[in-house]
Amino acid sequence: MMTPRWSRRSFFAALAATCVGRAASRDLERRLLESLGQLRIADTHEHFYEEKERLKRPTDFFSLAEAYVWADMVSAGLPAESSRIIRDQHASDAVRWRAFEPYWNLVRYTGYAQALRIAIRDLYGCDELSAPAVVALNDRIRSRNRPGLYKWILRDMARIRFLVEDDHCGGCVKVASTKENLAMFVLARRFDKFIIPSGRSDTRQLEAMTGLSISRLKDLEAAIAKSFDQNLAEGMRAVKVGLAYRRDLRFEETAQPDAERDFEAMMSGSRNVPTGFRSAMQRPFRRMEDYLFHHVLQLADAHRIPVQIHTGLFAGTGGVLTNSDPQLLINTFLLHPRVQFDIFHLGYPYQEALGVLAKSFPNVHLDFCWAHVVNPSAARRTLSEYLDSVPVNKILGFGGDYKHPELSYGHAKIARRNVAQALARKVEEGGCSEQEAFDIGSRILYGNAARLFSWNDAA
Ligand SMILES: [Zn+2]
Repeated sequence: MMTPRWSRRSFFAALAATCVGRAASRDLERRLLESLGQLRIADTHEHFYEEKERLKRPTDFFSLAEAYVWADMVSAGLPAESSRIIRDQHASDAVRWRAFEPYWNLVRYTGYAQALRIAIRDLYGCDELSAPAVVALNDRIRSRNRPGLYKWILRDMARIRFLVEDDHCGGCVKVASTKENLAMFVLARRFDKFIIPSGRSDTRQLEAMTGLSISRLKDLEAAIAKSFDQNLAEGMRAVKVGLAYRRDLRFEETAQPDAERDFEAMMSGSRNVPTGFRSAMQRPFRRMEDYLFHHVLQLADAHRIPVQIHTGLFAGTGGVLTNSDPQLLINTFLLHPRVQFDIFHLGYPYQEALGVLAKSFPNVHLDFCWAHVVNPSAARRTLSEYLDSVPVNKILGFGGDYKHPELSYGHAKIARRNVAQALARKVEEGGCSEQEAFDIGSRILYGNAARLFSWNDAA
């Protein structure tokens, strides 16, 4: 290799050019970030409490930290006793902080902690945590905990136009379709409980939910159809599937008599039902589950309702990651070509495979919900890769995935920064103009989700 021989002058000229180049790059990124900051964006996935429920709950810094910083602290070794003290609403802030601080110091640089730090800084003016700072912070959180909180955080601060609200409890209804809610919320509903009952007590619950009696498989199918109609009447605009938390995502085509046999065994209690982590690996009624899963998808197809599916990393600790590999869904994508699939969390860490699936299947969309806080740098890198490989109408750029809107504000800020950085690189590489970059940003942060969830902005 030849070593270039730099004269002093050419060295400084090159250095100056590099500095000018860096400054121009930062300017471009800043301009894009400013434009995206003004843009009112879509949020494809949340688990918010209804505002009036949130206002009744005792909420403070430690409750905000629960999702998901706590999981990182457990991963760092947080003892159960410390966890108990931190949760104890009757203990003083100082005592709770003493239990929290040593583990906070181990996780404060992760994406989860970044979102929390942004939230408490921008919304409650807390720059650095300490025992006295937590007391002041909790006072500010409590004094803000009054009607109008969601509008302030979501509309005014995060500039979110609409969000898709998951019911988050597998079939219960957290957010009903009041006029006030539907001004901003698109409702996603789950049918997981109908797909994986494991005994009579489960089917009795489904009977109570639908008012139908369930003694044969076809009764369960009818109960699903009724629940589907009830949810449509409530304003359901998406189906959410969280089954990867319970089992793998490979759902085979199954003949009705095989499903019927599993259903009978489930009702008679004749097979052992595994408990604990083994239940994620051994499914004694698998053929019934597979059959019912496809039944739900047929309803989604008939009603033209998009289907959101959890893939990749799980919330909390100890999940069976391989159950949630999006590649397990390939037969599902092929079996239901008219169903629009919204595949969550980039399937992280299977994001490269998911990129190929979105490239290969017209009905597969990639969703960055949760992803910018799970791993901010991986999300940014992945967006750059997707912009090089996936049609821009398939990318959904942001979903908060929190119970508290404060954290979604923090997440949205990281997401906008990531999108601006990935787009700035695209412009620098000559891949698009600055105006085109903004148009792409606007599509992935708003337009694609508005189209997929039939959001009418004039409403
Ligand atoms: Zn979620």
